[in-house]
Amino acid sequence: VSVEEFRRMGYRMVDMICDYYSSLPQQRVRPDVQPGFLRDQVPPSPPEQPDSFEQVLEDVHSKLMPGVVHWQSPSFFAYFPSNASFPAALADMWSSALSMIGFSWAASPVSTELEMAMMDWLAELCGLPPSFRCNGGAGPGGGVIQGTTSEAVVVALLAARARALRGRDPADKLKLVAYASDQAHSCFRKACMVVGVDHVRSLPTREEDNWELRPEVLQAAISSDLAAGLLPCFFMATIGTTSSCAVDPVGPLAEVATSSGCWVHVDAAYAGSAALLPEQRAAHFRGLDRVDSYSFNPHKWLLTTFDCCALWVADSGPLKEALSLTPVFLRATGNALDYKDWQIPLGRRFRSLKLYFVLRMYGAEKLRSYLRHHIALAQVFAAAVASDPRFELAAPQRFGLVCFRLRCVPREANEALLEAVNGGGRLFLIHTELGGRFTLRLAVGSATTQLEHVEAAWEEISRAADSVVERFGQ
Ligand code: PLP
Repeated sequence: VSVEEFRRMGYRMVDMICDYYSSLPQQRVRPDVQPGFLRDQVPPSPPEQPDSFEQVLEDVHSKLMPGVVHWQSPSFFAYFPSNASFPAALADMWSSALSMIGFSWAASPVSTELEMAMMDWLAELCGLPPSFRCNGGAGPGGGVIQGTTSEAVVVALLAARARALRGRDPADKLKLVAYASDQAHSCFRKACMVVGVDHVRSLPTREEDNWELRPEVLQAAISSDLAAGLLPCFFMATIGTTSSCAVDPVGPLAEVATSSGCWVHVDAAYAGSAALLPEQRAAHFRGLDRVDSYSFNPHKWLLTTFDCCALWVADSGPLKEALSLTPVFLRATGNALDYKDWQIPLGRRFRSLKLYFVLRMYGAEKLRSYLRHHIALAQVFAAAVASDPRFELAAPQRFGLVCFRLRCVPREANEALLEAVNGGGRLFLIHTELGGRFTLRLAVGSATTQLEHVEAAWEEISRAADSVVERFGQ
């Protein structure tokens, strides 16, 4: 493909993207396809001779698009959002064009230094403690962009293990223990599997505590493990759990965990964007000055198209101890920061560029009003639920998430409600289990979601509830 051909195709692709975005409100949010739908549509082998761009596009439209879940639809309320934005897309185009592999300062001075600067910008916007700042690589702390929270948690756990085993018998690694609440994301358990921490504690939470982990529960678990001769090593708190957006009391939990030598990581994968809002920060983000590492995904709710997970550490020493291994051909970068020592892979994309575009082209004020807009919409939806006697809120409404269910009905009734709502295709939400009870979850956060979409969602849910209640009684 020549430069001039790319110019023509590129314009065509931009047109296609614009047309797609214009059509999004009319699309079924979830496709009506079954597993294997693509099997017979894609030839068993790649072509020997090139196909034209037009032929490929034709197949994208006719064969691939029918299998797309429209995550950017204004009526996408499932999971947590995964915001795309045009500034981030433009930055990603440029990053693809440059295609640099920024594992070390020498391999890519600009991506290394822009990443440090953007992580400091984000830290400032979120009011994070000064210990997390990169300050041009001068301090012990700093930030790094990982692909996902799952990677960030593995990296944090590796650092925790390195620190815990300093000066110990290597065989003590069999004694390491990691803790989180039973509401923590499964990436906690997966990190333990990957790192090889065998003693994994999923600590109980209760509905009356709004699914937050109590410090005394953590204390009891740690004391019992210490008494058994084990080595507490890692504790992960969550700000904004996946099921209900519960917020663990980070400060008191960190006090318990650090006093027995645990590394404390805070996972705010989705909710972390809300730290841009001073009022949310004051309510939900206290205690971060006491933790070792903190991460959130700007790709979820901060318009920074997947993938972008911001991870900060107060002291990068243990991270580098765990992850730095410098073959001879990568030596001699002087005192510069080499991000290969802050992550698992060697290669890394120029992800800071999309943060740079997003933060500059929106500006902090617009980003704050964007987040407040979604929170306000979630409040509207929660108020509608609360005012309908057939329904109950299953957890306090936090950030953009509302958890709710039909009250006094068998479990199958709420399952049928979700099936009816999603079956129509006009919106998409998922469920969770809270205290073993089937609970619907509506997460507001798509970039184009407006009041009309939330109102339409409530109307649809309310209408579906009419027939479910008629069928199951209440
Ligand atoms: N932690 C929380 C609280 C989440 O909600 C999620 C995903 O939604 C994750 C971690 C996993 O994130 P990732 O896909 O970035 O690994």
